[in-house]
Amino acid sequence: RTVRDALADGPTFSFEFFPPRDEESETQLWEALRRLEQLAPSFVSVTYGAGGTTRSGTIRATERIAKQTTMLPMAHITGVDHSVDELRNLVGNLAAVGVRNILAVRGDPPGDPEATWVKHPEGIEYAEELVTLVRDAGDFSVGVAAFPFKHPRSPDIDTDARYFVQKARAGADFAITQLFFDAEDYLRLRDRIAALDCDIPIIPGIMPVLSASTIERAPKLSGAPFPEKLGAQFAALHDDKAAVRELGIANATQLCQRLLDEGAPGIHFITMNRSKATLEIWDQLGIKRSPARL
Ligand code: FAD
Repeated sequence: RTVRDALADGPTFSFEFFPPRDEESETQLWEALRRLEQLAPSFVSVTYGAGGTTRSGTIRATERIAKQTTMLPMAHITGVDHSVDELRNLVGNLAAVGVRNILAVRGDPPGDPEATWVKHPEGIEYAEELVTLVRDAGDFSVGVAAFPFKHPRSPDIDTDARYFVQKARAGADFAITQLFFDAEDYLRLRDRIAALDCDIPIIPGIMPVLSASTIERAPKLSGAPFPEKLGAQFAALHDDKAAVRELGIANATQLCQRLLDEGAPGIHFITMNRSKATLEIWDQLGIKRSPARL
């Protein structure tokens, strides 16, 4: 079974994790995975680091998910600092450990995401080439990234949409969005892409506000200012940490519900390797899934 199959039965509910850096974060990751496994998610994904040991951590974590859990793993991969040969190897290694789903993203320059992108001399320039590479490597279900506010490097939103469609046509089965906090931004992206005759499922990526620091980091994370009205609601709570968290969970729940009502093909929760907030949103949404659907 692949993510493509899961989407055909949709809507999908999926969870995103990052590869552990050390033993302690490995324990935390696996505690979260085991708790969230009970929800029988459609698939779970593990991001790809900027370099170093976390990169092999993506293979290790997705392998263990494939072999020791009931969940369907997806590995993110990037073209950062990799030659095409290394990328082919990476994809081959993923296939060898039983991973058939790949989110193909270009990645950002290590250290400073806003620095100029410089491709590896024998590497790829755009994610589109990575999609083709994965497609040519075997029978994978391939996803790509989508940006409700355009990619920070794109000159304008229409150019961004055109390149997105090109990337989708290279063979992507689905896309997952950068996080956002206002449903309208997602719906506008979906309309822009549909207007270009592209109908791949675009799964919203959701991360609840759990503390004031999420709001501070939001422009960097999402590429857009935090919605003003919502920002004022959080600001009115001052430093009441519990109240901020409660509003964040309620707000993310409303956002998910609206997206599902509007026909979104699924929800992809960014978990930060924790389970509590996702479980709370899941309960509030009243999602019912039976493990038999896996
Ligand atoms: P591209 O699609 O290659 O786009 C990059 C820029 O080039 C855009 O401005 C685009 O419009 C433009 N462009 C695209 N194609 C062309 C073309 N043919 N000609 C001219 N211009 C073009 N990063 C990680 O390091 N690890 C991860 O695991 C990871 N996971 C992510 C998951 C999701 C859901 C998202 C949304 C992002 C993720 N990222 C991850 C971040 C991502 O790597 C960066 O946002 C990166 O800057 C863009 O990746 P992309 O795949 O969209 O690139």
